[in-house]
Amino acid sequence: MKSFRGGTHIPDNKQQTANIPIEIMPVVPDYYVSLAQHIGKPAEPIVEVGQLVKEGELIAKASGFVSANIHSPVCGTIVDIGPYKNATGATTTCIHIKPTGEGTLGYYEPLNDPTAEQIVARIAEAGIVGMGGAGFPTAVKLQPKDKVDTLVINGVECEPYLNCDNRLMLEKPVELLKGIRLIAKALGVSRIYVGIEANKPQAIQTLLAQDGTAPKATEGSTDIVVVPLKTKYPQGAEKTLIYATTKRKVPAGGLPSAVGVVVCNVATAYAVYQAVTLGKPLYERVMTVSGNGIKKPQNLLVRMGTPLKDIVTFCAGLDNCDKLLMGGPMMGKTLVDLSYNLTKTDSGFLALHEDEYVSVLPTACIHCGRCVDVCPMHLEPLYIDFYIQVNDTATAVKYGALDCFECGTCAFVCPARRPLVQSVRLTKQRHREGK
Ligand code: SF4
Ligand code: SF4
Repeated sequence: MKSFRGGTHIPDNKQQTANIPIEIMPVVPDYYVSLAQHIGKPAEPIVEVGQLVKEGELIAKASGFVSANIHSPVCGTIVDIGPYKNATGATTTCIHIKPTGEGTLGYYEPLNDPTAEQIVARIAEAGIVGMGGAGFPTAVKLQPKDKVDTLVINGVECEPYLNCDNRLMLEKPVELLKGIRLIAKALGVSRIYVGIEANKPQAIQTLLAQDGTAPKATEGSTDIVVVPLKTKYPQGAEKTLIYATTKRKVPAGGLPSAVGVVVCNVATAYAVYQAVTLGKPLYERVMTVSGNGIKKPQNLLVRMGTPLKDIVTFCAGLDNCDKLLMGGPMMGKTLVDLSYNLTKTDSGFLALHEDEYVSVLPTACIHCGRCVDVCPMHLEPLYIDFYIQVNDTATAVKYGALDCFECGTCAFVCPARRPLVQSVRLTKQRHREGK
């Protein structure tokens, strides 16, 4: 089974929702659509308070090369455009929309047999961004400066609890493969790998059955190759996935295109299919709601801007919940309450019981070296932690803090419960601020 050096085995806790089909979340009374659902500059609103909008209509325009369009998730009336604080502590400008019930769709014209340029232009129009969590505008990613020859599709979904990508692969395989081929056409590549962890045998079999090409996990293949990968965290991180599928090593500080590769998530590929073939912009996504602290764990199709409290109500409410997380337990954001509205990058919401996470105070590092053994980037997190704690940002950076992608593996295995990821984030922040 293909894999990478380092990483660790963590309980995947996917059984709660692995076999639950995607359900469509009904329309709720209010939507708060953030203008900053992506990496780069926030979008600029092009609507006014009181204006009626269609479902799928453009309501905020990308404000630069690295930015993304935003579309209305419903037919409705704009009631406010302003700052809203959410439960991560961040404040973002949101467009508040009240649905008006039935109405027409504001989709784009479907494209039939589009050129590479038309595909990229449509992806930009539709506001598609990396839906695996990064939120990087996909149209920008598909115009790399380096020459690329390989597309890697990320179907790994190694974060515990989450099943949204798994369910998409099981329920929409034909559409997904069409989306993958559109991305490959946009890039002008013919070598395509779809990496899927071995703990999703049904998804692997489904894609193989749909594509009808059987496994061709060899270099030089000219069609989609489904690559089963060892179940290990963080198998789905971009650099580890590229190594596992192609044996190419992305240099420190480099982008995947430096080794001729572009990586896209399965949800992104599905969004590309919808945008090109149906003309549907990105205004809804599949997410997993799970954990022992939610009464009815589910996989849901939810519109962007849906308040989290409505999602929780649709899942029958909280049950003795001790911790709230947006995203998975390894890389997700802790929420202090339910004041949060869904964005394009939110693949899951977890409500956890106290027995589902560890909450102890850190003690001194015992130099056991476990964090070094597991780091997929071959870093020494204990030294990043040490130097940033003594305010020596420069040395913490020398130990590779900027190459860390915050997978949390080191912190997971640390017997002293050192806040290693927080130390990395602090280093990056101080480095940005020149401190
Ligand atoms: S795993 Fe924790 S205790 Fe062990 S060396 Fe790393 S920081 Fe220190
Ligand atoms: S140092 Fe960064 S990349 Fe390495 S294991 Fe820790 S969080 Fe992951």
